[in-house]
Amino acid sequence: MRKFIVVLLLATLLTACSATTGTPETSELTSPIEATQVSTENPTGVSALTNEVESNVDILANLPAATCDSGLTPAEPAGPYYKEGSPETANLFTDGMQGTRLILAGQVLGEGCLPIPNVRLDFWQTDAEGNYDNEGYSFRGHQFTDNKGRYYLETVLPGVYSSRPIRHIHVKVQPTDGDILTTQLYFPEQPVNDLTLTIEDRGEYLLGYFNFVIRFGEK
Ligand code: FE
Repeated sequence: MRKFIVVLLLATLLTACSATTGTPETSELTSPIEATQVSTENPTGVSALTNEVESNVDILANLPAATCDSGLTPAEPAGPYYKEGSPETANLFTDGMQGTRLILAGQVLGEGCLPIPNVRLDFWQTDAEGNYDNEGYSFRGHQFTDNKGRYYLETVLPGVYSSRPIRHIHVKVQPTDGDILTTQLYFPEQPVNDLTLTIEDRGEYLLGYFNFVIRFGEK
């Protein structure tokens, strides 16, 4: 009898999972985000991973309304720690890393405040201790906005380093047709005009929203 109940629960769970991953919202997501949709080969992992996917979809489906009132996102210096050749990934966090989990999400918007798909976003930041990885590619990664101009990044809250005592994340925003915007994102504790993330404390992680507004398609 107990075995039957376990089988029944598993069947119910798998049905729920397939229903979730089959939503139109999920099918619209691009490859970096789909990369977190892990298969159901490991039954013990199904529940947790599905929750994570639902969280991704939920966050992206409930982004704040796009506003462009502040005009174009200001540029900022790249600084000395940028490295070409970052891996394509939407997840800079791996198990065992220290720090407060941080998810960044938002859109890249252009003329008329319309979302721009396929914009390359190349993020780099320090680890939680304020150290850049100048040997490898930890806390460096690029991704492309989806068909609604959206991005989603999993990382940790960067530390603060002594030569630059303000918490920040660097990013290069590169549309297929237009100039690269190099800038930095800041946190509410030390806000910078038009470059400060809106942070929500979601308990297990911080959620940071930011919309980039860029020049697009102009020669
Ligand atoms: Fe920096």
